[in-house]
Amino acid sequence: MNILVIGLGYVGLTTGLSFAEQDMQVTGLDTNQERIQSLLASKPPFYEPGLAELLDKHLQSKQIAFVSDMKQAVEHSDTIFLCVGTPPQPDGSADLQYIQAAASSIGSYMNGYKLIVIKSTVPIYTNQKVRQWVHEAQATSVDFDVVSNPEFLREGSALHDTMYPDRIIIGSESTRAAEAMKSIYNKLACPIIVTSPNTAEMIKYASNAFLATKISYMNELARLCEKMDINISDVAVGMGQDHRIGGYFLQAGIGYGGSCFPKDIQALLYTAEQEKAELSILAQVSLVNRTQYAYFLNIWEQKLGGYANKTIAILGLSFKPNTDDLREAPSIPIIRYLLAKQSVIRVHDPIANLPSIIDSDRIQQMNSIEDTVAHADAVILCTEWEQYKQADWAHIRSLMEQRYLFDGRNALHPEQMAELGFQYYGIANASQLEPE
Ligand code: NAD
Repeated sequence: MNILVIGLGYVGLTTGLSFAEQDMQVTGLDTNQERIQSLLASKPPFYEPGLAELLDKHLQSKQIAFVSDMKQAVEHSDTIFLCVGTPPQPDGSADLQYIQAAASSIGSYMNGYKLIVIKSTVPIYTNQKVRQWVHEAQATSVDFDVVSNPEFLREGSALHDTMYPDRIIIGSESTRAAEAMKSIYNKLACPIIVTSPNTAEMIKYASNAFLATKISYMNELARLCEKMDINISDVAVGMGQDHRIGGYFLQAGIGYGGSCFPKDIQALLYTAEQEKAELSILAQVSLVNRTQYAYFLNIWEQKLGGYANKTIAILGLSFKPNTDDLREAPSIPIIRYLLAKQSVIRVHDPIANLPSIIDSDRIQQMNSIEDTVAHADAVILCTEWEQYKQADWAHIRSLMEQRYLFDGRNALHPEQMAELGFQYYGIANASQLEPE
């Protein structure tokens, strides 16, 4: 079986390498030439644990190749995975231009039956559109199938999630295509659910929306807990022991980010609007998330006595640990908020770099935690990187001008931080610790 993966981002590269690891012959294609050159030189274009090693391994084993010639790539493949981006448009809908471009290229270069697999997250009915786009681009009619096979990996553990998924969803109208998909995944020990393409597309959105709902529920509850002196982290532990609830995605914080939850929720809300069906819970989920960081920044501002001309150390830029992805990361609106308040900001992240769109002489990225916190009035922890959890906080305390520590991820131990002399405030987890 010759697999072609179109789009070599977080999903495509991980998918391609995991197939290579399962002894399949894989070709990866991307329109970004720089990306192809970087991959050929065995340099992953982004950070994901274990990816660099696997890339090196399979470039050497020749189990994976990277190309930019679409015609040759399509001709030499029998199964084609679409893993291109589906970014949000200003109205919230998913931008399908990359999917359409790839589908049209496949259609125009098809030299025999192809199994086309949509792995990108796409709105309901996109499977039909892809069929249409492929068909329209064909010079002569060639048989093909389009299967919806949404991806559920999490950045930061993408390889693990791809090799050990909870389930595989196959949305297919054709038994032949569904059977071919089952054989591709036959080495994975997880349930395979075959359904209609529309249902498969909905399962992806419904899953992400539900996880985001858990987070926003806890984040909104944290606002009440903050007022009532109740520790939301303890509430989460007590709730999570109930198997009907489950312990995951109950951690309150400054809000979710990343390339998936915010975009997919907007896209599902857009779909609901088009269908004249109200998803009122989801609209609130989005609203709580958009306002969460400001809600707690406001509380912390009062503790600090204003952000103007204060030196604030931001620890963590990426939307979560173990990735360099800054898409929709809460750190970015937080930085903008503080710049608007005339703070002086120093930031640190183990891997991610401050994006060039944040252009101010009041902000600087530092290489070490020590340089970031030196003479700071306050630290704001935006990402719960392990380095920050394990940091020498007594030393950090000794380097700071004032002792305010705002833990946006409830990642540190409030009692320990208070013992070290910090004025520690998290997300509804430390109100009892407020010093006299
Ligand atoms: P990404 O932005 O990291 O990568 C997309 C890649 O596609 C880029 O390298 C781009 O150059 C390439 N591309 C665009 N048009 C192309 C074309 N016509 N031909 C070839 N290459 C093309 O995106 P991603 O994060 O990997 O996400 C891809 C899709 O998977 C999205 O729909 C996303 O919602 C979904 N998804 C993402 C995640 C995640 O955690 N990142 C998880 C599950 C699903």
